[in-house]
Amino acid sequence: MSSVFDLRKIGLILTIAGLSLLADRLGYFGSWNQRLADTRMALSQRPADGEIVFVAVDAKSVSEVGSWPWSRSVHASLLGELSQAGARDVVFDFDFTFPSDPGGDLAFAEALKETGGSTYLAVFEQSATANDPSGRHYNVPLPAFAQNSWPALVNVQTDASGFVRYYPFGRTIDGEFIVSAGALIANAFEPGAQTFEIDFSIQADSVPVVSAIDVLKGIVSPEVFAGRSVIVGASAVELSDQLAVPVQGVISGPLVHALAAETLLRGRAIGWMRAEWVALGLALALLLLGTERGPRHMVSIAVTTLAIASVELAALSLFDKTGIMVPSALLYPGLLAFVVGTLVQSLKTSDWLLLKTSAEARNTFRILDRVFEDSLDGVVVMKEDGSILRHSASANQIFDTGDDGRLILPDVLRRAEPLPTSAPARTIELPHANGTRILEYRARLSEVERLASVGKPPVRETIKTLVLRDITQAKEQERDIAYLSNYDDRTGALRRNAFLAFLGLRLDDNRDAVVFALTLDRFKTINVTLGRGVGDAILREVVARIERSALLLSSPARLGGTSFAVYTESAAEESCAETLAESLLAEISEVYRLKDVNAQIGVRIGYSAVKSQSGTTPEDALDQAVEAMDMAKSSGLPVARYDRNAWEKQKRSREIERALETALENNEFYLLYQPQHRVSDGSLIGAEALIRWESPTLGSVHPDEFIDIAESTGFIVELGNWTLEQAAKDALSLPSELVIAVNVSGIQIMRGNLVEDTTRILKKVGLPPSRICLELTETVMLSQSSQIIETMQDLRFLGVVWALDDFGTGFSSMEYLSKMPLDKVKLDKSFTMRLNYDPTARPVLHATSELSRGLGVKLLCEGVETPEQLAVLSEEGCEEAQGYLFGKPAPVGRLLGTAGIDTI
Ligand code: C2E
Ligand code: CA
Ligand code: CA
Repeated sequence: MSSVFDLRKIGLILTIAGLSLLADRLGYFGSWNQRLADTRMALSQRPADGEIVFVAVDAKSVSEVGSWPWSRSVHASLLGELSQAGARDVVFDFDFTFPSDPGGDLAFAEALKETGGSTYLAVFEQSATANDPSGRHYNVPLPAFAQNSWPALVNVQTDASGFVRYYPFGRTIDGEFIVSAGALIANAFEPGAQTFEIDFSIQADSVPVVSAIDVLKGIVSPEVFAGRSVIVGASAVELSDQLAVPVQGVISGPLVHALAAETLLRGRAIGWMRAEWVALGLALALLLLGTERGPRHMVSIAVTTLAIASVELAALSLFDKTGIMVPSALLYPGLLAFVVGTLVQSLKTSDWLLLKTSAEARNTFRILDRVFEDSLDGVVVMKEDGSILRHSASANQIFDTGDDGRLILPDVLRRAEPLPTSAPARTIELPHANGTRILEYRARLSEVERLASVGKPPVRETIKTLVLRDITQAKEQERDIAYLSNYDDRTGALRRNAFLAFLGLRLDDNRDAVVFALTLDRFKTINVTLGRGVGDAILREVVARIERSALLLSSPARLGGTSFAVYTESAAEESCAETLAESLLAEISEVYRLKDVNAQIGVRIGYSAVKSQSGTTPEDALDQAVEAMDMAKSSGLPVARYDRNAWEKQKRSREIERALETALENNEFYLLYQPQHRVSDGSLIGAEALIRWESPTLGSVHPDEFIDIAESTGFIVELGNWTLEQAAKDALSLPSELVIAVNVSGIQIMRGNLVEDTTRILKKVGLPPSRICLELTETVMLSQSSQIIETMQDLRFLGVVWALDDFGTGFSSMEYLSKMPLDKVKLDKSFTMRLNYDPTARPVLHATSELSRGLGVKLLCEGVETPEQLAVLSEEGCEEAQGYLFGKPAPVGRLLGTAGIDTI
């Protein structure tokens, strides 16, 4: 409140009031005040009080009397009538300066004398004319009339705007003060005052008017004039001066006098309040209004407006009651200045800047608004307390709206914590009419300034923006895709990769598992005979049965075709594996009852027990189970357990088998020769061809390994032929007394056609059959097939020599042995070895020596490595020997260079 008495402010107010006053003095507000006065008069109309009657020389009177100017006898008659009726005083507003007809003038002079003293005749000032440029000229009645009457000034003046406002009290003419007609009637002389202002709120048309001719005719009631003042004057337009006055419009001169008289009679000569008071009032008003400050400027303006209205009402009322006019115009510039000042003051600099920038901002907002509205993501702007300020149209599609049209935003989202930009958006699942809806959302807090009201500093507040995206569909698609990639679409079983992933989880979790691989037997038959549809149905049923089985098993996987896999989910011991496999077997082997057919299928199961910390990968585990399954299949067993050694051996065998297929055509085989010597003199009698294989993929593979496989696949027949041919060719390069021993497999005899092949090859190479010794291992004799004996006989007949290899390792019966067309027996090298440490070896050697002599065949001892062994052999009658002592298997070229004993 201290600011109310702020000196600067008081100074300012006084300046405004002073300037307003000055402006008023300088007349700047004159016309405004006049206008205000006119308005007040117009609003405050009052009738004349009828004390003054206007006897009008109107058009009717002029035409009935017949001439103008009238003979003054007519005036005399009028005066007579009026005074007889008891008129208080009569004013004649005509020119009595010049004489008219003598009779008339006389009559009028007489009439004046008779009424005596209460008649007024017009005196008026004439402006300078062309004839008399000297200046003023006063028209006064002829002395004959003036004697018995009073002069009455009838001049009225118009102001700058051409209106009659002021009326004179009188004027000093030739040293004598002539009172005006109005002042005379009102009997109000104020010699000091020059003029007064007529109150035009008095209605001119309420002044009683009587036509002069009616008076002359005596048809007007004397009561109209009794005790009243009468003005006789012209009203006919052509006779009288029509005057423009405020409010009342254009009226005739006599009416102006009447209104002037009325004004004075009622004491309503307009008195203007002193401008100083108004200026003071202004200063006070400003001081009072000035206490309203700042943002309450609207109140200030209202108060100011109210103040103006009440001032005007008061002024009107004051005028209405007293005729005092308030020159209120001088208030307005000051008040206007105040209001403008208040407005300017209330709009601080920042607000001006705001106004300035708001135009630019509005455009930006408009664009942002569009973006906001058209945003595909739902956008919700909230106050910190979670109440929604605004939301985008798209938010309506995500959330329901309540009956009140407001967005129903779940509390979780209302309370959503803000996330940094780098963090991935959160997701939430919300129940919805058509199932669950998945939303991705991100909340953000922003500090904003809000202009709560003009003139006050902006309010700082935190708002929360929530951006939402409905990702339900995308998620569903993702799930579908994940499902499709994880599940076999025909049976609904897991796919291999998914199965391995689950198994991996279990193993990573340090839990053991038994992995089963199953394959359906004879399923092709079902597909062929019952159709694919039934086949598929059975496959689905197999999956269902595995799933349904009482065992605690994982979801089954389809490995492809008719193989499946499953693993134990329980902590099943490895020992239970066999039982589990058997229950699975029983379950799957049950009859399948389909719509029109019953079917039964066989199943083979392989399994592998995996320790979680053995380093076995899920892939390895599954491979092992499949391996075991394959083993079951190949061995004809329903269930097989994975065995590491067997698995590795089989794997190696398969590799060898595969490599063998191309080894021959790729020339991967070659022959080495091991010399054979006569014991008696140590001479070289021949050599044994030993096959070698250098595989580009497997390296050098030992014959012990690949011969077995070649035998099992039958490849040995082909390989045997190659060896024979190669050995025969090599033999050609050797002295003809040397015999080349070639190993022959029993398979070559059983499956091949050894006789024909050998005949053909030897013929082709051109080697005499007697230079070839075929070695046949004793184990072959176990089968005791007659085919072997026959083949041997046929070939021996050709000239080929036969040796029984590895003698002592098999169990040839003497009978069978005696049937064979043998030339030589090769005692197995294990016997030679045993000579070093086993005392029973020598007797066996001795017996064998006796036996061979009995059969008539030579005895060759293999594996002779030391001279001591050789000495014993010699003593026991062994004729031939072979071994490292004489030479290791070597290329054919080295054979001749090794004559004599080859010490190791
Ligand atoms: P085998 O017919 O009994 O061949 C003699 C084996 O004893 C040869 O092994 C030879 O290197 C080895 N040996 C020779 N002297 C000694 C010795 O003083 N000490 C020791 N520890 N071992 C000695 P190799 O060459 O590895 O042949 C192994 C077997 O492979 C042969 O046994 C034979 O049954 C078979 N084989 C080799 N070549 C052929 C072939 O061309 N056809 C067929 N069907 N089988 C063959
Ligand atoms: Ca041999
Ligand atoms: Ca042997």
